[in-house]
Amino acid sequence: MSNDCPFCGIVAGEIPGRIVHETDDVTAFLDANPLAPGHTLVVPNDHHERLDDLPEKLAREVFAVLHQLTPAVEAAADADGSNVAFNNGPAAGQEVPHLHGHIIPRFDDDGGAPIHVVAGNRPDLTEDDLDAIAEDIRNAR
Ligand code: 5GP
Ligand code: ZN
Repeated sequence: MSNDCPFCGIVAGEIPGRIVHETDDVTAFLDANPLAPGHTLVVPNDHHERLDDLPEKLAREVFAVLHQLTPAVEAAADADGSNVAFNNGPAAGQEVPHLHGHIIPRFDDDGGAPIHVVAGNRPDLTEDDLDAIAEDIRNAR
């Protein structure tokens, strides 16, 4: 547990949260400043900052809860779809340094945008560039 982390505080019951799912490993609660009704955050109970820091077993638990909760969130919000995503690290917009998956309900007429817009300008990559990047990823696993 990290003392100055709001999500550790919610998991410990020291900070109020509208909890919608709770096990020994994973907790989910409503976002305090929601982008849509039903905006839900799914966190590992232990304080891990990024996906890279998460032990594989816990990663499976977090993704299982995202999988289980997403249809429930959509049904409760009467949504037409959802964006399910992590801001992984400050460069990606992560503000709370306790890993959390967002489930953001989406509506046909909500005026929002697809996840493609979050990364800024698209790079101009050649076929060779793409081959090299794919090779680098395979080698980095
Ligand atoms: P991030 O930018 O780190 O991916 O998203 C952090 C999210 O946490 C934001 O959507 C913000 O509204 C939410 N948030 C920040 N502090 C609290 C809090 O104390 N309680 C709850 N329930 N949500 C919070
Ligand atoms: Zn924490």
